[in-house]
Amino acid sequence: MQPGELIAGDRGARALREGDLARAWGVLAQVMDPEVPVVSVVDLGVVRDVAWRDGHLHLVVTPTYSGCPATEVIEGDIRQALEQAGFSAPALERRLTPAWTSDWISELGRQRLHAYGIAPPEGSTSKASLLGKPPEVRCPQCGSAHTELLSQFGSTACKALYRCRACLEPFDYFKCI
Ligand SMILES: [Zn+2]
Repeated sequence: MQPGELIAGDRGARALREGDLARAWGVLAQVMDPEVPVVSVVDLGVVRDVAWRDGHLHLVVTPTYSGCPATEVIEGDIRQALEQAGFSAPALERRLTPAWTSDWISELGRQRLHAYGIAPPEGSTSKASLLGKPPEVRCPQCGSAHTELLSQFGSTACKALYRCRACLEPFDYFKCI
């Protein structure tokens, strides 16, 4: 079989060109989370892998948690951004294991969450849950650790609502899951 036969009839298919994958990562770095528009899907660690398969981009995507209503939106945004950048019919593979953990949020992502007024997740999720201890959540406004949980659910299901006892400002905390 000739290599071209594999993709016969697939009009958008083409060979991988140099720089394609780096360019794809660059496009993905501009796709923001619909709930927290300052962090990209790359910052969040939602895009696990980008490869070239059968003449198209092939992505592995792990949603922040299964059942998160934003997942469909995120996948649609990813597909649209890649199509606009000239990658025809990118394939998205949704992978649920291993499950997403907030440990996958990049350092840049943490800084961006903080700058946006959302307390980034503290430490390793597994460690905190093993010890059964609530995480130490610092106020993104003044840095105080004197904070209290107001509600398990903040502005979205992925966040919890806290209040700082020092400056009395309420803020969202991106939950460790
Ligand atoms: Zn404060």
